[in-house]
Amino acid sequence: MRAEDLQRSELLTIDERTGFPMLGPYRLIIAGMAGFASLRNDLIKSIGMDNMFIIMSRYGYSVGIAWASAVAEMYDFESPEEWLRVCEVFLTMSGAAHVNFESIVIDKEKKLLRCSGTWTESFITALWRLEHGPSDTPICVFMTGVISGYASAVLGSEVMVKELTCEAQGHPHCSFEGRSAEEWGLKPEEVRERFDLRRFEAELFTLHKALRDAHDDMNRQREEINLLKSQRLTPHADDEFIFRSDSIAHLLFLAERVAPTESTVLIEGESGTGKEVLAQFIHHHSGRSSEPLLAINCAALPANLLESELFGHVKGSFTGADRDKTGLFKEAGTGTLFLDEVGELPLELQAKLLRAVQEKKVRPVGGLKDLPVRARIIAATNRDLKEMVQAGNFREDLYYRLAVFPLSITPLRERRQDILLLARYFLQRLKHDHPGFAPSAVRKLEAYSWPGNVRELENWIEYAVVMAGDELIQPDHLPLATMNDAENLLSGLASDLPTLEELEHRYIEQILHHTKGNRTEAARILGTSISTLWRRLKEKSPTDRV
Ligand SMILES: [Zn+2]
Repeated sequence: MRAEDLQRSELLTIDERTGFPMLGPYRLIIAGMAGFASLRNDLIKSIGMDNMFIIMSRYGYSVGIAWASAVAEMYDFESPEEWLRVCEVFLTMSGAAHVNFESIVIDKEKKLLRCSGTWTESFITALWRLEHGPSDTPICVFMTGVISGYASAVLGSEVMVKELTCEAQGHPHCSFEGRSAEEWGLKPEEVRERFDLRRFEAELFTLHKALRDAHDDMNRQREEINLLKSQRLTPHADDEFIFRSDSIAHLLFLAERVAPTESTVLIEGESGTGKEVLAQFIHHHSGRSSEPLLAINCAALPANLLESELFGHVKGSFTGADRDKTGLFKEAGTGTLFLDEVGELPLELQAKLLRAVQEKKVRPVGGLKDLPVRARIIAATNRDLKEMVQAGNFREDLYYRLAVFPLSITPLRERRQDILLLARYFLQRLKHDHPGFAPSAVRKLEAYSWPGNVRELENWIEYAVVMAGDELIQPDHLPLATMNDAENLLSGLASDLPTLEELEHRYIEQILHHTKGNRTEAARILGTSISTLWRRLKEKSPTDRV
């Protein structure tokens, strides 16, 4: 049998029983160019151009081997050259291209093969030009793959075909050269590697490893977050307020009244005023003190972690949820759940919190069943929630549910009679035999505005003890910020005796200096509105002064 004797109609038939197209005894799949183009584009997008070329070339290689074996089962060819030449027929019949072998030399015993030729109208270059325009390099890897596979089957040893010039580069046709491995100066396994996915697999392996490392990192971070979150309030005896002021006396009176009830409490107060301590106070006077007091800072976690921390999640509800998690609402049992900085709760979680407070039910992330809430809820905020409601950042219904019993902690600057008491308390706790404060240091402490409230005072006493050692605490043992306030102002008064108006102006400037120019904060400290402050500043501009 010679290649030219082959009848295409005999080679390609339709099976009468099934209606399938057949190549000899083998069933064919006719896919069409559009489907092929789409597959190729998907490969480019998902694994990149280079890897697409490897896959296509490998695909062609296996097609070539299959064709060569199929036709060899059907006919006996008079020479391996004739067998190889049938590849032209297959490539035309399959719609791939018109191929023309110009020379074929085969020595099967020595495992040598050389061939060369051209193909035109390759479907690959047709598709390519539609989408990409001219190419710098030959692109018909499917074609070289088919001929390589086919020729390898004929020779019984590895053959590699290279495309020398390509229609996609602007040449009138694509030209190729094929050689057995030895003829290229390669070992057969080196040729096989060209069609190997190993390169691709190595890349996949690298990617997979990077992914695994990232996953490990994420787990580590999650553990750290869990650790931070588990640093919950441990009830301690030190839950009493140190005070002399009426405002705190009144606050504790109210707190004691509400403590044994079921009511939700909203604690409002600037940061550092002791909202957590008040929550502990309520818990201890609630009759629930043998039950847990759990606390969470709503500002400390991103929304998704906060959600599963509060409400729990079921295994598999998101990546990394490898087991069920009990949320704090459930974990608190019949104890108390303290939600600090509730104003920072994202809107989508506010709806879930509303349901927990209103209907006493929560549903874990990814869960199908509601769980009952029996814990008492205390929320706290340093934000003006009413203002947030008006701005649309906090749900009005949730606000009224939380603020059933609002408690407001007065900032330290508005209860100056507590400052020294607290300062002595913190000093005693740090060093019970310390000699105490010099009168000038006391004056400084009492004159300062304490934007950070009790917590700031506590930190500064610690600072002062370090500075003073066993000596009496002097003004210069205190942090510098205390110097910026009224002290400077007062010290100048005796010498230049300003008018009341001038004094007011100087005081406003002093406060503005303290707030680093923040007028809102200055107005708050001065107990006036921003517009009043603004007017006063304009009334007496610096040029009016002598
Ligand atoms: Zn080409």
